[in-house]
Amino acid sequence: MINKKMYELGSNRSAIRDLFEYGKTLANKIGKENVFDFTLGNPSVPCPNEVNEYIANLVLTDAVSTHGYTSAQGDLATREAIVNYNARRYGFTLDANLIYMTCGAAAALTIVLRSIISNEGEEVVAFAPYFPEYKVFVENAGGTLKVTPADEVNFETNFDMLKKIVSPKTQAVIINSPNNPSGTVYSEETIIKLSKFLNEKQAEYGHPIYLLADEPYREILFDGATCPFLPKYYDNTIICYSYSKALSLPGERIGYIAISPKCENASELYYAVCGAGRSLGYVCAPSLFQKVVAKYCDVTSNPQIYKDNRDELISMLTSLGFSCVNPKGAFYLFMKSPISDAKEFSNYAKTLGLLLVPSDTFGVEGYVRLATCVSKETVVNSKPAFTKLAEKYLK
Ligand code: PLP
Repeated sequence: MINKKMYELGSNRSAIRDLFEYGKTLANKIGKENVFDFTLGNPSVPCPNEVNEYIANLVLTDAVSTHGYTSAQGDLATREAIVNYNARRYGFTLDANLIYMTCGAAAALTIVLRSIISNEGEEVVAFAPYFPEYKVFVENAGGTLKVTPADEVNFETNFDMLKKIVSPKTQAVIINSPNNPSGTVYSEETIIKLSKFLNEKQAEYGHPIYLLADEPYREILFDGATCPFLPKYYDNTIICYSYSKALSLPGERIGYIAISPKCENASELYYAVCGAGRSLGYVCAPSLFQKVVAKYCDVTSNPQIYKDNRDELISMLTSLGFSCVNPKGAFYLFMKSPISDAKEFSNYAKTLGLLLVPSDTFGVEGYVRLATCVSKETVVNSKPAFTKLAEKYLK
């Protein structure tokens, strides 16, 4: 018999994918130049040239090992390069024997959740607005996702609600900073407060509450913002990192899990991670891209176009009367919908060729998300459509 739950997951596309597919159909009808697609978080900056050259060279000169299996946890040289990079950058020494290479952050989260959820109904907390796949990943591991409503002042942590939601069933809290979709970078003050709260709760419940640092955008920061390195603040931290955005390699599927060496029972947890990866059939992360990471983990694609697009869009949209959350990182812009029903607003925008993702999909009402990883041309040419949108709702 077909698994009903899986059927439902596969047959109901996410709202983001739905809009993206709609955009392709619309482009065939009215012309690509009349569609302004702000839906997907696909980097618009190419991977640095030196990285592309290295990839070509690897394939041409060392094809057998480049395309071969690696150890399940990943090549030691790659894991050591990650340790060295993080030590240089953040002054914190991870342990290569607690790093597990994955197919991006999505696989990292799936594996970690599988390794820390033991019983049906155990809970994982996320802060709205949140990446919608968290619900899918947590439920697939047998858990339940609990969401704290957004703090709409600074889009960080709603502590009052967090205190109500955390319970003896809580196994983990997910932090995504810089955040998709709001662009918020959690402040050091917030991280310290959160760590103190979780330490108290761990002591009260007598079991660990892991902090999952979902960090695919860690390197994409603007205006001098800095992203606190969570293992420095909270011992039971597990990093789920990805090179999808930092190196513009989303289709290549490469990232890692790093268990903080200060984590309670870190070695046992690492074995559970290896077991979860095995049970999910990952075998090993792509070998070619493990080699790329070993050499280029301290290189980042140039994020300037994301900043330029952000600035241009904020200036255009605010001058038209819209209001936006000012993103300090990642490549999204969260814009307030002038009406409470963001879906209705997004549906009307569609008639103008503007594809904006309604915020309901991220667990918050009344906003739309614009991916700013688009071409400059898309931003500039979208102005007449945004002007019509403003005329409809703001005049
Ligand atoms: N987490 C967040 C917040 C994301 O935005 C994404 C992708 O957009 C992911 C995880 C998954 O990224 P990856 O391509 O590394 O699997």
